[in-house]
Amino acid sequence: MTNVLKNCFTFAPPFNSSATDFFSFRLTYTKMTTKQRYKHIIEWFKANKPIAETELSHSNPYELLIAVILSAQCTDKRVNMTTPRLFANFPTPEVLAASSQEEVFDYIRSISYPNNKAKHLVGMARKLVENFGSVVPDDVDLLQTLPGVGRKTANVIASVIFDKPAMAVDTHVFRVSERIGLTTNSKNPLQTERELVKNIPAELIPIAHHWLILHGRYVCVARKPKCEECGIAQWCRAYNGSYCYSRLIIL
Ligand code: SF4
Repeated sequence: MTNVLKNCFTFAPPFNSSATDFFSFRLTYTKMTTKQRYKHIIEWFKANKPIAETELSHSNPYELLIAVILSAQCTDKRVNMTTPRLFANFPTPEVLAASSQEEVFDYIRSISYPNNKAKHLVGMARKLVENFGSVVPDDVDLLQTLPGVGRKTANVIASVIFDKPAMAVDTHVFRVSERIGLTTNSKNPLQTERELVKNIPAELIPIAHHWLILHGRYVCVARKPKCEECGIAQWCRAYNGSYCYSRLIIL
């Protein structure tokens, strides 16, 4: 049993390896409600990550819209390598609207799904010019009328540019929310979005989106989460619940 506990503790940096501490911690954990978990985790992020922003380079709403469309199934790093030339050659919605899919393709060929994305970018620019006077709308529903703009992209624009309480759920946010215990058996991004919006204060939703994305990108990574360096481990459901139990079973 001692070895079992020791192995479990190797993933619990906030605590020492005494059995007493382990059991008292387990007791605390099992008493924790979802509301308390949200509270602790939000407080930790507020204290430790007061600044959390998009990593997509942009200097105006139009550029961010392009960058977010390009970032689907692609890394921000790759998008940032591509957009300087793209923005320089298509500096306004009007210029992009007057171009062709083939022209745009040449600038984004190193990005995933370049054909589709080139088509979406030109279509988006044309609709932006024709229907919105070349101004990126701030409404999530209106944003979704633009080609290439789904709910996630619309929420990113609404929160990053317009500071609205819109929670964009990408693969990181979806995975991390479930692991931490902010959601339970969420079936899809929309369920996760609704649960997060229900539990996070509206004024914190824009930054909470970045907290979760960046946590998923750099700490709670998909294949092997870095629990040993995770600041929220003590409130994490996966870390303290099934994850630990699964280790107990295989030991
Ligand atoms: S403790 Fe591990 S599983 Fe939980 S949030 Fe941190 S890195 Fe992810």
